[in-house]
Amino acid sequence: MRDYSNVPVLILLGPPGAGKGTQAKVLEDQFGLVQLSTGDLLRQAVAAGTPAGKAAKSVMDSGGLVSDEIVINILRDRLADPDCAAGVILDGFPRTIPQAEALSELLASYGSQVHAAISLEVQDDAMVERISGRHTCDGCGEGYHETFKRPVVDGTCDKCGGQKFRRRADDNPETVRRRLVAYHNETAPLIAFYEKSGTLEALDAMGDIAAITEALRQIVRPIVVDVRGVHAASKNSKTAQMEETQ
Ligand code: ADP
Ligand code: ADP
Ligand code: ZN
Repeated sequence: MRDYSNVPVLILLGPPGAGKGTQAKVLEDQFGLVQLSTGDLLRQAVAAGTPAGKAAKSVMDSGGLVSDEIVINILRDRLADPDCAAGVILDGFPRTIPQAEALSELLASYGSQVHAAISLEVQDDAMVERISGRHTCDGCGEGYHETFKRPVVDGTCDKCGGQKFRRRADDNPETVRRRLVAYHNETAPLIAFYEKSGTLEALDAMGDIAAITEALRQIVRPIVVDVRGVHAASKNSKTAQMEETQ
């Protein structure tokens, strides 16, 4: 088992459409962290037709939560990949108290812990507005929004030049309502869970994308620097350079 004691572990908490994926990608680039999205991992498992994917598909289509067992197994496997030693930003996990407890145990077995659980706070109507305009590039997965994050050239992905975009099947009004109920019942209690452990950072996420990124950077930077410690520069010069250019 590897030692992850100087590996930053950050969580982005928040309802569907809060901006977790959007911000996780920016933090990934800026701080050399690895985004772990259980939603993305589950969609990959569905597409690959694995047993976990087969079991998860109908639950995801209906807007419910996939079983803790499946999600924890998927996350455990992914966390063992060597690239995670750069530090991780969890997006969409944990979503239940048992998942949070399993995460603490798993991290403890690596000599690590959750360093910050950042709660993106948005109003319900903003979530619905964000989800209803959400789409991604078919080629590279870059996320966009009809109103709030359009590509520079209309219809062409900024990252890969692709011209095909897709919407998620579960981003429809009926499923979104169910996902919000699941969020309020199962996931919102995590705010108190992390408050109790002293790692909660609440962030008003009603601003525009760039303003939220900046607020997040202010929270994340000192944590990442502190956890990586003074030897981070020699261990990972690429990451250190990225931080210096901020
Ligand atoms: P989550 O991962 O929390 O479900 P996303 O990051 O996918 O949310 O964001 C949902 C949609 O809202 C995307 O289309 C994204 O471009 C857009 N979005 C993200 N953050 C903001 C923001 N601060 N203001 C407006 N739109 C946003
Ligand atoms: P969003 O970004 O809108 O919050 P995600 O991409 O994170 O959506 O998740 C999509 C779906 O995948 C969820 O509605 C749920 O069915 C399933 N899912 C993702 N992460 C988890 C998790 N940690 N626990 C249970 N189900 C999950
Ligand atoms: Zn693209």
